[in-house]
Amino acid sequence: MADNILEVKGLKKYFNTPHGLLHAVDDVSFSIEEGKTLGVVGESGCGKSTLGRVILRLLKSTEGEVLFEGEDILKYSKAEMRAMRKSMQIIFQDPYESINPRMSIGELIAEPLIVNKICKGAEMDKKIRELMDTVGLAERLINSYPHELDGGRRQRIGIARALSVSPKFIVCDEPVSALDVSIQAQILNLMQDLQKERGFTYMFISHNLSVVKHISDDIMVMYLGKMVEKAPKNELFKNPLHPYTRALLEAIPIPKLSSRDRQREILQGEIKSPINPKDECRFAGRCKYASEQCRSGAPELREITPGHFVSCFCADK
Ligand code: ADP
Repeated sequence: MADNILEVKGLKKYFNTPHGLLHAVDDVSFSIEEGKTLGVVGESGCGKSTLGRVILRLLKSTEGEVLFEGEDILKYSKAEMRAMRKSMQIIFQDPYESINPRMSIGELIAEPLIVNKICKGAEMDKKIRELMDTVGLAERLINSYPHELDGGRRQRIGIARALSVSPKFIVCDEPVSALDVSIQAQILNLMQDLQKERGFTYMFISHNLSVVKHISDDIMVMYLGKMVEKAPKNELFKNPLHPYTRALLEAIPIPKLSSRDRQREILQGEIKSPINPKDECRFAGRCKYASEQCRSGAPELREITPGHFVSCFCADK
């Protein structure tokens, strides 16, 4: 078995809000094998982005450990973390929000090379052109500005910037959600090709299970800050155990039936926000199978078959 490049143990991120303590990520543990992709899915607000950002230390954790190649990076000093940043990168949903629109494509790709003192001068110029070629950006665009490009090409800039520092692990935070479906496939294919060539490990965040299915080896489902199920991709699609996972699967649009109609039929009630959550299953309020037991304590995460974890009292009944 390959080694785990990342191990997350009991990770928590709570936010103080005027209404109470918001449990955005609440005691989440998992690992990712080197060279593999973990898909992280769940509705908006379930804590996916916060989880990715806490792992990369873009946000401070409340509690827990993040072992990268065996070392807890949450204990690293700022200087140690600066060095580590090169190994751990992020690709955002909308690169337009994460880049300076007044910089040209060449300057945007040069920025991480300069900041991380990777190369300069003619060598940097060559590297920029190589990176553009790798991500499928024509060299003639080097002096263009982000607003002159379509969403797919802008996302290619985001990917080139992440690649420039030769990372090992990349958090991909809804990288194709803002793109047209045809462009989504091109970007997903590019990311998969790069993974095959360079052995990247991805944590791929999306609210869309169909997108995650394409690229993931394992899939983790989150609900209100909790991991409710995790399994190898095919197992999760064939044998979903948590009622929430089943609802997400049912909500995947099928031809001739709008996803909205299906969702209304399957997932009832509103998603709440996890502020001062009660000691109960967080899905109980929306679950048609919820019993007294689900409202009198939160279910533990259990391994039902090897590699298939679920937190639901009813999963094996
Ligand atoms: P997702 O990526 O799944 O859409 P997020 O991680 O963005 O979810 O958010 C998880 C929860 O944390 C949400 O309820 C969100 O409102 C809350 N949240 C995120 N960032 C902050 C913040 N800086 N301050 C307070 N609450 C936040």
